[in-house]
Amino acid sequence: MKVIKFGGSSLASATQLQKVYKIVVEDSKRKFVVVSAPGKRFADDVKVTDLLIDCGAKHLLGETAVDLEQEVLARYASIADELGLGAEVMARITRDFEELLASDKTNPDRFMDRIKASGEDNNAKLIAAFFRSQGTEAHYVNPKDAGLFVTDEPGNAQVLPESYDNLYKLLERDGIVVFPGFFGYTKDGEISTFSRSGSDITGAIVANGVKAEVYENFTDVDAVYAVNPSIVHKPRAIVELTYREMRELSYAGFSVFHDEALVPAFQAGIPVQIKNTNRPQLPGTRVIHHRENTNGPVVGIASDGGFCSIYITKYLMNREIGFGRKVLEILEDVGLTYEHMPSGIDDLTIILRENQMDRQTETTVLDRLKNELSSDEVIIEHGIALVMVVGEAMKHNVGTTARASKALSEAHVNIEMINQGSSEVSIMFGVKEEEEKKAVRALYNEFFDAE
Ligand code: ASP
Repeated sequence: MKVIKFGGSSLASATQLQKVYKIVVEDSKRKFVVVSAPGKRFADDVKVTDLLIDCGAKHLLGETAVDLEQEVLARYASIADELGLGAEVMARITRDFEELLASDKTNPDRFMDRIKASGEDNNAKLIAAFFRSQGTEAHYVNPKDAGLFVTDEPGNAQVLPESYDNLYKLLERDGIVVFPGFFGYTKDGEISTFSRSGSDITGAIVANGVKAEVYENFTDVDAVYAVNPSIVHKPRAIVELTYREMRELSYAGFSVFHDEALVPAFQAGIPVQIKNTNRPQLPGTRVIHHRENTNGPVVGIASDGGFCSIYITKYLMNREIGFGRKVLEILEDVGLTYEHMPSGIDDLTIILRENQMDRQTETTVLDRLKNELSSDEVIIEHGIALVMVVGEAMKHNVGTTARASKALSEAHVNIEMINQGSSEVSIMFGVKEEEEKKAVRALYNEFFDAE
């Protein structure tokens, strides 16, 4: 059996839904269909989830949001109309939505999660009705009835392991199961959503639960590319990559597939096949445990801005017991997460995401690192981009770092920092944000164009 997940742009209009239907029925193994909320129909369009967030926020403020509510309902109505679905589907969606908006708001996070989740929930109901209207047996299944339980962390829920056994029972269901992505239920019956774009996570959880032979993830790009196509024109498509490579790439800006979604698939050893709903005949990209490393040391180059670095130096730091722990304790105390911490003998650098640093937090953390640790110097630098060169085959290839740094120096990109994890799946370069694109192009030319 296969689990097949469709992203929002694949479900944004009646035309898209017709493509989806064709894809699903053309392979009888495609029994579990996980769906997002309707996404963008064109570049400047707004995703239903974003409309719902605005709508929910207004309700929390006690403001009217009639326009937004109508916009949400109109999105479903136009799809339902065009597909010739009876009035019953829309009546149910409208009634449920109105009930939700009127529901308890004493816990704003929970209220927001209920509103957000309705995007996928209603879409799953609509899609199941559409499949049935085409003569295919299909049923909407609610995550609560299927036993998809999650932690009580609104907007960042994590699956509870018992869910997998519960979901296995979905195999007993007749026909096609249409399952809403993006949320599960807490043990006390409340809706809790995954992080944004979390329908990918649901798909992976269902795939793990039903022990699918493959998790097919249909989106709106032909494949995962070796580099961001908005930086390099027509880059090479990646046919196969490992979970670890995918994880590294999606960490640094590859947004095709949610990084958290790899975990359930990886744990069950289920391959993930990424494909384009608009061009399903193309092979797409397959994510697997192992691959033959036949094509050079590097599989892809990713980059992401929005980082800052804190540089700490103290003479004889290497001999001071507990220095690292004290640094981390201060970060923990201030409530900061860090990404990387490359170090030298008497210095270390902490790379953090800049969006958690307001002025007050910055002053506090710098003062504490300087004074409590008696550091010689503590310097923060903003506007750092991380560029990751990723490939499992780097382990077996000598000189990848040398090639990468040479390419950067020839492009006159100043390397602020280099970090290579002991796994040797990636080399990370810290560069100034304004040099990010130049750096990526130089590295792409070195590892792909030159070959
Ligand atoms: N609709 C949700 C979002 O926009 C989840 C998803 O599409 O995967 O984040």
